[in-house]
Order: sequence, then structure tokens, then C-alpha cells
Amino acid sequence: MQDLLTDDERMLQESVRRFMLQEVEPLVPQMEADGYPPRALIKKLGDQGFLGAGFEEEYGGSGGSLAMRAIVSEETARVDGGLDLTLFADIMLFARAISRHGTTEQKEKYLRSTLAGDTIGGMGITEPSGGSNALNPATKAWRDGDDWILNGAKTYVTNAPWGDFLVIIARTSEEPSRIDGGTWFIVERGMEGFATGPAFEKMGMRSSPTGDVFLDHVRVPQRNVLGEVGRGFHYLVDSLDTERVLVGASTVGLIQGCLDEAAAYANERQVFGSPIRNFQLIQEKIAKMAVGIELSRTMLYRLLRAVDRGEKVTREAAILKLYSSEMVSQAASDASQIWGGAGQLETNRVARLFRNSKHHEVGGGTTEIMKVLIARETFKELGYVR
Ligand SMILES: Cc1cc2nc3c(=O)[nH]c(=O)nc-3n(C[C@H](O)[C@H](O)[C@H](O)COP(=O)(O)OP(=O)(O)OC[C@H]3O[C@@H](n4cnc5c(N)ncnc54)[C@H](O)[C@@H]3O)c2cc1C
Repeated sequence: MQDLLTDDERMLQESVRRFMLQEVEPLVPQMEADGYPPRALIKKLGDQGFLGAGFEEEYGGSGGSLAMRAIVSEETARVDGGLDLTLFADIMLFARAISRHGTTEQKEKYLRSTLAGDTIGGMGITEPSGGSNALNPATKAWRDGDDWILNGAKTYVTNAPWGDFLVIIARTSEEPSRIDGGTWFIVERGMEGFATGPAFEKMGMRSSPTGDVFLDHVRVPQRNVLGEVGRGFHYLVDSLDTERVLVGASTVGLIQGCLDEAAAYANERQVFGSPIRNFQLIQEKIAKMAVGIELSRTMLYRLLRAVDRGEKVTREAAILKLYSSEMVSQAASDASQIWGGAGQLETNRVARLFRNSKHHEVGGGTTEIMKVLIARETFKELGYVR
């Protein structure tokens, strides 16, 4: 297992793990009750260099590989899936989009403050009419003098209720091809016509605020256009593979959290005069979690290295997301089962893992969409379709 990580990555893993256990774990019940992590915690994560892992040092990042970002995510999700989700939107969606496509001015203004933990970002793709068909937004933008007018709505946007900045995709021209005619805009809280709703009351990921975004003829200056006009859907499709690989880090962390809880309880709980770890039906559940972690983690780090080398991993990223997100649901259900009646109590961490476990089968592309994608890419690879 150790050979998956370099020495630097292992050191980072140890320090993030320590930080999460000491500084974050005690805060989670309150974060869930509030529906937000404390801003001071986000700042502390920035000060530790955890937010900037894998980003360019020029704008306050800590440098290093994409695997470093995955390590932060895995260790965060192991302790709290909600905080991990909020950081995913803040860093992997918002900061990464600015890092990849932003101008020097945009990076100075938005990337630096996000990596420092001074501001919070997110990304709006999903609309009230649906999220799976991401290349067909009803949100539109058109030129008005030197500015753009942005009109529409987004929903289920992580960090919308408390974020400072969001990147929003809109259709800016009708093109014969679905992939053309999309553009990203950076919107800021305080812009006239930009509003967000309250945080949704969710079954899981309660420490991560999710909500609606309303865009009522928002005037956005040209300097807030992200990347090239008309190339937005291309950027979206290009970044999805990496994001799905990174979701693998979140899911591995969650399965590991389930195993932590399940194994500790199986070891401690005595029934029929024996620790329940001695019962084979309990061992079967532990074994499935261990298999899920090993297979997902090995594939995760293999794909992270491939992404760093610039390889295309569409099919493999979808396989990792599909397999590992289904494993989270299975592992959380099994961990809760091992805890028996105590698994139903909100005071036990395993209940939180159970509530958090469903998210990754939906967010970032559903299980069904992953299967459609894997089948399509497989037919392509076999040469049956182009
Ligand atoms: C907690 C949370 C945080 C989120 N954060 C963000 C965010 O930060 N930014 C953002 O833009 N979005 C975010 N989302 C939205 C998420 O990405 C969408 O919910 C997801 O893409 C699915 O879209 P939908 O809910 O509209 O479902 P729909 O697209 O309406 O799909 C409904 C059902 O139909 C199935 N389906 C659709 N098409 C097909 C098909 N071709 N074949 C078979 N089945 C199909 C789907 O798999 C699903 O089961 C978040 C969601 C949640 C729950």
C-alpha cells in the first residue's frame, strides 16, 4: 500500500490525518447542526497549506501533485464527508477552474484568496430542469456593451448559500453542436440581480451548505468571463474526468471511515460471550469494505498519475466513480448493521456515515450516467462506434 505514495505525499497524509482527528472531528456535530463549517476552520485549512495542495505556488498554492489534493480529500472525507464536499466545490471545482482557465488578474483576485481560505467558491452547472443533461442549460448570457447580461437559475449548488464567488455556465450562442456555445462567468456575491436561497435541509452531507442560485439579469463585466467565450462546455467535459477521479478520493475516505467504525465496534462488542468480530457473517462485511478500499485506492492513485501525465481517462474515471460510490453505500449500510441498535443513534458516528453515504451515487454524475458512459467508451474502445 505504501508504494502508492511518495515520501512527501506520505508526510502530507500523516499531517492531514492528525489535523482532521484533532481539529475537525470534535467540531462535526456542531457543523452539522449549523449546516456550515466555521469560516475560521476554512482559514486554518488554508494556513496549513491543505487547500493549496497540488496548486501553483505563484498564487499561494503548496505545489506538488494532484495526488496531494486527493490525500487531503481522502483524509477529510474519512472524518466528515460534508466538509470534504464543501472543499471539493471550493477547491476542485472553483479554484481549479480559475487555475486552468483564469487570467493573471483573475488568479490574483480569486485563486489566491480561495487557496488562503479567505474566501469560498463553488460551481453552478445543475439547473431546476435537471443536472444529468449538463450541456443543455436554460441559463443564458448575452453581450450588452462592454458587459454581459446573465439570466437564469442554478440549483443544488454546493456553497451557494455562503460562498463569495461562483463560476456559472451559461449558453451564450446557439450552435449546431451541443458542445459549442457555452461560456463560464465568475459571479460575486453583491452583484445586482445575483441572489442565493437558504441552505437545503438534506439527509446527508449536512455540514456542507447546498442551495439555489438566482440570476436575474446580472450584469457581469467582460473581465469576469472565464476562459474563451463559446468554449465553456469543452472545458466542462475536459474537467469532468479529473473531477470524477478526485471523487474517488472522497469515496475511499468514506469507505475507510466506515471500516474504522465497523472494525472498532466488532472488536469491542461482546455477544454470546464473544467479540462479534469472531462471527463469519460480521467478517464478511469487514472483508467487503477492505476489498472496496484496496481496489478503489489502487485505481485512484493509478488514475491520478495518469491525469498528471496528461492521459485521457474518461472510461476509467467513470469506472472508479461507479464502483467506489456504490461501495460507500454498501459499506455504510454494513457498518451500521454491525453496530446493531446503536447504529441508529445520531450520537454515533456510524449514523452520520450512513446518512452521508448516498451522495456520491448522485453528485458529480449519477450511477446511471456513469454506466451509460462506461458502455459508450467501451464500445468505442472495441471499435464498434466512433
Ligand atoms: C449535496 C449535493 C451537492 C451538489 N453540488 C452541486 C454543485 O456544486 N454544482 C452543481 O452544478 N450541481 C451540484 N449537485 C447536483 C448534482 O450534480 C445533480 O443532482 C446530479 O447531476 C443529478 O442531476 P438531477 O438531480 O437533476 O437528476 P436528473 O438529471 O433529473 O436525473 C434523475 C434520474 O434520472 C436518471 N437519468 C438521467 N438521465 C439518464 C439516462 N440517460 N439514462 C438513465 N438514467 C438517467 C439519473 O441517473 C437520476 O437517477 C449537487 C447535488 C447534491 C445532492
